[in-house]
Amino acid sequence: MSGDNKLKPSERMKIQRQAMPAREGHQRSACFEEVNLGFDERLAVLEAQRCLECKDAKCISGCPVQIDIPGFVSRVAGGDLAGAADILLRDNALPGISGRVCPQEKQCEAQCVRGKGKGCSVAIGHLERFVADWARAHQNGRSPVAPKPTGFKVAVVGSGPAGLTAAGELARKGHAVTVFEALHEPGGVLVYGIPQFRLPKEIVKAEVESLTRLGVNIECNVVIGQTYTIDDLMTEEGYHAVFIANGAGLPVFLGIPGENLKGVYSANEYLTRVNLMRAWRDDAETPVLKVKHAVVVGGGNTAMDGVRTAKRLGAESATLVYRRSRTEMPARIEEVQHAEEEGIQFQMLTNPVEILGDENGWVRAIRCVRMELGEPDASGRRSPIPIPGSEFEIPCEVVIVAVGTRANPLLTQTTPDLKVNRKGYIEVDADGMTSKPGVFAGGDIVRGAATVILAMGDGKRAAAAIDRYLTAKRATQ
Ligand code: FAD
Ligand code: SF4
Repeated sequence: MSGDNKLKPSERMKIQRQAMPAREGHQRSACFEEVNLGFDERLAVLEAQRCLECKDAKCISGCPVQIDIPGFVSRVAGGDLAGAADILLRDNALPGISGRVCPQEKQCEAQCVRGKGKGCSVAIGHLERFVADWARAHQNGRSPVAPKPTGFKVAVVGSGPAGLTAAGELARKGHAVTVFEALHEPGGVLVYGIPQFRLPKEIVKAEVESLTRLGVNIECNVVIGQTYTIDDLMTEEGYHAVFIANGAGLPVFLGIPGENLKGVYSANEYLTRVNLMRAWRDDAETPVLKVKHAVVVGGGNTAMDGVRTAKRLGAESATLVYRRSRTEMPARIEEVQHAEEEGIQFQMLTNPVEILGDENGWVRAIRCVRMELGEPDASGRRSPIPIPGSEFEIPCEVVIVAVGTRANPLLTQTTPDLKVNRKGYIEVDADGMTSKPGVFAGGDIVRGAATVILAMGDGKRAAAAIDRYLTAKRATQ
């Protein structure tokens, strides 16, 4: 909005936060279509007009990739969607993804001045999604200006949000980038973990394609640590720098009796089978059990995705078992609300103690104990304590364990001079450089299981550091 048409702050303050249109709970719990429908232009402009365009915009400091939020939001308010897209895409290579899955309520929106006191923050995430979708519909296929080649080759290990972001940033600087991905499709958790009903795969595909148009080469089915080691990449394959972003996808189990019964899955296996291997199809080669009663253990986004997927695959009851209370659940608030609307049952302050099987070794129930909250633990959350004598059983045929993941040692074990901490995560300096010169790392393999936008922030920072490293290398050549 420009000139005389611009609303006064008092007029902006009167506009209420616009709700995200969504499919009805009963409609969507049986299908994999995306739940949120997105703003149309009228809603987006109205919501954007709520922004006060603060000079000292606190929202920017809450964003791990430092998007110029008032810049792009003010363009939306004025109806200049191409201008909004230019600003957004300058800071964020994957806005259609982050606009859908970021925990904005804990990041940019938590800092927004309109959210202080009893107010409601500007719906920054919904606007980001709107602009990204507009750009995909109107500008997709746009050929970026080819940068002058630098002559340097950079290898990226893993094609999740950290790897894709770094690859895009490095390609824009003119470096020849190859991404090596172990799976047969690029995207990392964005394709194998987060389900279609939250993040349609076409969006990941379109954002990956925009990177390949930029010149990024992606080689799937290549496992670094097996097909090549990091040393192979830097010697025989001639790469001048490497960015490791292989995530932390090794599942953690509960360590209780009965975990080897038939019908127990790790959430990663269950979700990978459904999302990547299309297990919802009757002719799928790697199906999952479609059962009447499913139980998912955990309280994060992965648990929420697992339980909502089980419901969509036809479970009459899909139950989430979590040892703390709802306040401590790490899942995004919107996902918890959507799960409730879809009829997911929540067993809060409940911990599994044993998985029970029938005479043929199939899961028949999970035995749990009720918990109460004690003093805060190392994570700052109140630790759960079992209530003696409160054990009970939940009948079920499938148990999905979603209590976390850890680093896969395959890559680090084949690169002995790469320093890792006691949990197996790679140690880096402020620039993202590891103990091995020219080798950088970021995302979950450094932080432990975190978020998409933190992984993207790491990719962006490491790409800038790699560029500086290569420029310095040229100076000494
Ligand atoms: P990943 O996304 O894990 O990507 C790593 C890639 O490296 C993978 O493709 C893997 O196949 C590949 N790889 C591994 N080893 C090798 C090797 N040796 N050689 C070659 N390639 C290799 N975060 C949010 O912000 N919002 C959410 O809503 C959300 N929901 C989630 C739901 C689920 C089910 C899960 C599992 C996580 C979720 N997260 C969410 C967390 C988020 O997805 C991760 O923090 C993020 O994807 C980490 O990015 P990354 O690039 O570090 O690794
Ligand atoms: Fe707009 Fe809120 Fe950012 Fe201020 S803090 S610029 S109101 S989004």
